[in-house]
Amino acid sequence: MTRAIATLCLLLAAGAAQAQFRLPSLDINKMVDSVKNVGKATRDITQEEEIAIGRDLAATLLGAAPLVNDARLQRYVNSVGRWIASQSERPDLPWQFGVLDAPQLNAFAVPGGTIFITRGLLERMRSEAELAGVLGHEIVHVVKKHHLKAIQKGAMTALAGDALSMATKDKGAVNTKLVSFGKEMYSRGLDKGDEFEADRLGIVLAARAGYDAYGLPSVLQTLQAMNAQDSGVALMFKTHPAPGERLDTLGEKMQPTLDRHASQPQLAERFAVETKAK
Ligand SMILES: [Zn+2]
Repeated sequence: MTRAIATLCLLLAAGAAQAQFRLPSLDINKMVDSVKNVGKATRDITQEEEIAIGRDLAATLLGAAPLVNDARLQRYVNSVGRWIASQSERPDLPWQFGVLDAPQLNAFAVPGGTIFITRGLLERMRSEAELAGVLGHEIVHVVKKHHLKAIQKGAMTALAGDALSMATKDKGAVNTKLVSFGKEMYSRGLDKGDEFEADRLGIVLAARAGYDAYGLPSVLQTLQAMNAQDSGVALMFKTHPAPGERLDTLGEKMQPTLDRHASQPQLAERFAVETKAK
């Protein structure tokens, strides 16, 4: 287990004060090396490499916004997330869930099983089923290795374009490209197809975990009702298809699944108690 993840784990388990949470300084050279190796490799990326890449990205993202200083809230979101992840095809990854202290509405996953949701998005939710829908969506991104594959593809393209500088041993130009690629990935977003797959299979996961399957559609409706110009949803709207399009796509393909699991619990009261500000 890496130091970053171990620290996160410790914080969540022991409820240590936010002040004690230390980020490892981001080792750009190491990150470049791991991305470069991934780009070179024609073989599959090992789970160990996947977790290492995710650790570096998680450290970057945690640098942008700290975790909410509320051990009970972090424990709650972790227990919901881990329960849903245990229903997935990759139950044995070191799953970690963190609530970021940011007012914007967003959630994202990094390779290897670390998932973040913002305080802003949590505050707009009304039930545990809604939380389960969003976490289910993010868990599918990890299970299907959507980000990992995007990194691999981007790294290969960057290296191919830099064949000359590679040949002349000018590694600087290659490294600069890879670093900026890694940083950009989370502001650019994934392919639409990956997002629709995460919506569909995320709903299946949340339903399998016992929740009302309408949790995710319900959150999408909340987002749809918001102004796209609102700075709180700008990044979410930039990195995902429009909520209306996601709802339409779900309706086309998932109506029978949604209806079959619509009477499962929403757990609105438990959600309210567990997420209420201290
Ligand atoms: Zn997504």
